[in-house]
Amino acid sequence: MSAQPWKVSLHGGHSGRFCEHAVGELQHVLEAAAAAGYHTFGVSEHAPRSQERFLYATEREKGYDIPRLHAEFEAYAKAIDLLAAEFADRLVVLRGFEAEVIPTSGYREEMLGIRERFGFDYMVGSVHYVDETSIDGPKTDFETLLARSGGLEQAAVKYYEAVAEMVEALRPEVVGHLDLIRRNAEPDAKLDTPAIRKAAGLALEAVRARGCILDLNTAGYRKGLGSPYPAPWLLRQAYEMGIGFCFGDDSHGPHQVGEGVEQARGYLLENGVDTVTVLTREDGAVVRRVVAL
Ligand SMILES: [Zn+2]
Ligand SMILES: [Zn+2]
Repeated sequence: MSAQPWKVSLHGGHSGRFCEHAVGELQHVLEAAAAAGYHTFGVSEHAPRSQERFLYATEREKGYDIPRLHAEFEAYAKAIDLLAAEFADRLVVLRGFEAEVIPTSGYREEMLGIRERFGFDYMVGSVHYVDETSIDGPKTDFETLLARSGGLEQAAVKYYEAVAEMVEALRPEVVGHLDLIRRNAEPDAKLDTPAIRKAAGLALEAVRARGCILDLNTAGYRKGLGSPYPAPWLLRQAYEMGIGFCFGDDSHGPHQVGEGVEQARGYLLENGVDTVTVLTREDGAVVRRVVAL
């Protein structure tokens, strides 16, 4: 295979048949990944939610319900098994999923159960919710959270606490978009106050202790944040702690596959990071490798 060994995405590959807010077919996503020159492409479809109250407004409008989310996820697990084998001669495809932290009291059992049941190659642990309120959805939800928490700083502290708890509960191979709390905040918001830095530092300690890889997630560019997730200060702190990074294009359709990865490579190099830590498959087994950029 002539693909560059650093060109790996471990977060993305959502597709329209298995995710209401994505488009396109999974097969076309993988064709785009091969065409983009990826060495390894990890597909991390969203874990199904288990309660009606967590359905998105767009899903409700289209008549989605919880059984449908579960049926589509099951279909995804079957499809990715077949496609990983079909693409094996041109692209290493890893079979993964993106975990949720809802409901707060039961997500650990649900997510570990999904992993076990389908025998996935790896898991992306992501925090999209704080106290069961979405930080990744409509701005109104985010504002509800801020009001309930007593402000942005308190909400951000709670967010990083949730990340640390998730890492301990799920021990995922990859931690998704570490500072997703930026997404709905005002562009000039201060998200590196001493209290936030302290909570983020504890989350990084958990990431290091459990040997997780951080997702260098290019959706930050797409969302107009000016940098990928995580922001430079967090990136440098993680790097100094010896934590590894791997790209994630967070693609939600073939058109987004590979988007921002070359730019994100430059971002790592500018910040003094000259390797990525990837997962790939060798002789049938999933292995972890550190490769030069
Ligand atoms: Zn998504
Ligand atoms: Zn995510």
